[in-house]
Amino acid sequence: MLPGIVILSFLLIMAIAVTASYQSQRQLLYERTLAMNYSSAERMAITMDTMFSTMRASLSAVADQIHDKSDIAEAQSQLEFLDVSSNYFNSIIWADERGFILSVAPSSLDVIGKRPTTQAVKQALTSRQPELSAPYMSSTGRMIVLMSEPVFDEKGQYIGFIGGTIYLQEENVIHEIFGDNSIDTTGTYYYVVDPSGKIVYHPDRARIGRDVSTNEVVRKLEHGQSGQGLVDNTYNNPYLAGYVTVSENKWGIVVQSPVSMVAEQQKRQITKMVLYMITPFLLVMAITVFLARRLTAPFVNLANLVNKAASGTALLEIPPQKHWNREADLLTRAVVSSVNEMQRQNQLLAYTAMIDPLTGLQNRRSVRPVLEHWMEEQESFSLVMIDIDRFKVINDNYGHQAGDEVLRFFARTMQTYVQPDYLCSRWGGEEFVILVPGSSPEDCFPMAERLREGLAKSESPIGIPITISLGIAGFPYHSTEIDQLFEYADKALYEAKEGGRNRTVIYR
Ligand code: GH3
Ligand code: MG
Ligand code: MG
Repeated sequence: MLPGIVILSFLLIMAIAVTASYQSQRQLLYERTLAMNYSSAERMAITMDTMFSTMRASLSAVADQIHDKSDIAEAQSQLEFLDVSSNYFNSIIWADERGFILSVAPSSLDVIGKRPTTQAVKQALTSRQPELSAPYMSSTGRMIVLMSEPVFDEKGQYIGFIGGTIYLQEENVIHEIFGDNSIDTTGTYYYVVDPSGKIVYHPDRARIGRDVSTNEVVRKLEHGQSGQGLVDNTYNNPYLAGYVTVSENKWGIVVQSPVSMVAEQQKRQITKMVLYMITPFLLVMAITVFLARRLTAPFVNLANLVNKAASGTALLEIPPQKHWNREADLLTRAVVSSVNEMQRQNQLLAYTAMIDPLTGLQNRRSVRPVLEHWMEEQESFSLVMIDIDRFKVINDNYGHQAGDEVLRFFARTMQTYVQPDYLCSRWGGEEFVILVPGSSPEDCFPMAERLREGLAKSESPIGIPITISLGIAGFPYHSTEIDQLFEYADKALYEAKEGGRNRTVIYR
């Protein structure tokens, strides 16, 4: 009972604690993850902003040095200097106003004299402004972006552009500044999109160049918004994302963690919490069971005692050792003494129910069990049924009181003629029965006669002798059934009465 209550309350507390902590923890973890991702995106945006400003400045510095298309050697050395002194661009080109490539660094690239017709080059040529292209597939089959600076001659005439490329799917400046962008153990990663919604940077390189402008974060970045929130990625998985627009190149940086990561972290935390709780719980359980045992021990003993009393007739003994629980001790004593008292009363009641109060002989009730027992044991016996002759006359002549005296006198007399193992009983009124074990009707006939004759000679309370008539039947001689035996003994007795009374008759 007590241990059950403890288990139940523990489980309830546990459930409440787990639910409460689950709710608050999840909110906390969401907020923390969002804040962390946002601040990473912000830091990355600052770095990228500085980086692209510097890249733009160095490209512009080269453009400023070139004024003459014919001085190929000078242009080449400018390009190579930039290429060698920094890792900003994967390649640098110098193209004239029609788009023909005049110089390239590194010089190993076989593009001189070629005229790329990509959208990015066209854009650079027509705008004659500093440009940063969207990702596109170059003529050499690479996914690239092109940063370009216009070149003017001494007279301010447009003579082409200097272009720096970033190979998006290879080692490039972005790797350099942000390190390897693999998805970490929590599932967190970042990606970068350009203003048109194309991926310029992603841990899955195959996705670089793809248009993800349908993604809700990307749409916000296109509008120059920065922020954080729970969003679905392109594949409809929920992510906790921080996103920031880079002011220099208008690219957007997204740092995001899968929501499942939070669930995973929570699962670990809850498991840990349950593990922490289980040890004290087991301790409390053990103590409870111990205390419950100690508390209930006297009551269990008492229950055993009372059960013993119910199944037997022996009196109970008060357990010798005193229990530390005084109330339990008092209760045990009280119960034991009242059970004992009840036991004594019962015994007395059982005894008096078997005894005839007038003569002190056993009564009719005690006869049957004795006979049943003897029959079970296959013990032969005879029953002698006795009736006082003309008793009504005694009552009538001397009074009922005297009649009672005569009954008592007969009972006493009868007992002097029997062996200790005979059972003398008052059958009712002035009728008596003697059960004689191990004896046939013939065997016990002399005893019956001695009693009859003795009585007829002795003086009774009314001053004159009284006489009796007797009928005898035997087991198994006459019958093996109790009722029939009594019937036969009664018939024999009737015969004795009919024959003139004061005689003994064996049933025939
Ligand atoms: P019989 O020789 O045929 O047996 O005649 P009887 O008068 O003895 O027989 P009957 O059955 O007519 O009378 C029995 C009487 O015994 C009747 C009843 O008043 C009396 N009696 C029965 N029980 C008691 C008792 O406990 N005390 C007294 N004083 N009389 C009793
Ligand atoms: Mg009678
Ligand atoms: Mg009689």
